[in-house]
Amino acid sequence: MDNQAKIAEKIVEYGRRLYDRKYIVGAEGNLSARLDGGRIIITPAGMNKGYMKPSDLIICDMRGEKSEGAGQPSTEIKIHLAAYRNRPDVMAVCHAHPVYAVSFSVAGTALDMAVLPEMVGTLGGAPLVEYASPGSAELAANLEKYIDRYDAFLLQSHGVLTLGRSLEESFDRMETVERFAEILFTADGRGGADLLSSVETERLLKAAGRSNLINEIICAEDEENVSGE
Ligand SMILES: [Zn+2]
Repeated sequence: MDNQAKIAEKIVEYGRRLYDRKYIVGAEGNLSARLDGGRIIITPAGMNKGYMKPSDLIICDMRGEKSEGAGQPSTEIKIHLAAYRNRPDVMAVCHAHPVYAVSFSVAGTALDMAVLPEMVGTLGGAPLVEYASPGSAELAANLEKYIDRYDAFLLQSHGVLTLGRSLEESFDRMETVERFAEILFTADGRGGADLLSSVETERLLKAAGRSNLINEIICAEDEENVSGE
């Protein structure tokens, strides 16, 4: 099996996992991966991603022009292309509508608070990308404001986008975001989640190679600041 065939098999597998995890229903969600020669492979529009075959996938160039495949590429292809254009390190992109994370996105609340070391120490957080119509160039432009420093994004009133150096990593990041959202939601019924201290937040971000997010992730204020000294 050549590399392209292996990647196609993996996209089919991760589509099934997104569906099995109930992160997508109907024809929602999309997955893509970078191929050689300035091409990407992406899921088709209008199909349930839990039941795809490798032959359903579409090959496009970096402008979104189709070169292989019977159907049409995902209507969300512009945000995938924006990720590959802006981030040479990104090899795969995952987009889904997991319920807890989407509940934050429809409330206009970013998942950018330092609550769980697991989240801060892997992704830092997931910023809220301002609303624009799904599939629009404007949505891709809004995403580009954050894309240099994050690997997970909450698309306002819509869903979640995650980037990775592999399909596995982009899928794992989707799970991390949804788990974090579920825990925050659950903690709300118990008086809300505590924020980690700024010292601990800084330590976690530094260890994750994300020191550039120190002023963006919401953490507890230092006691000095609270007392106003
Ligand atoms: Zn979507």
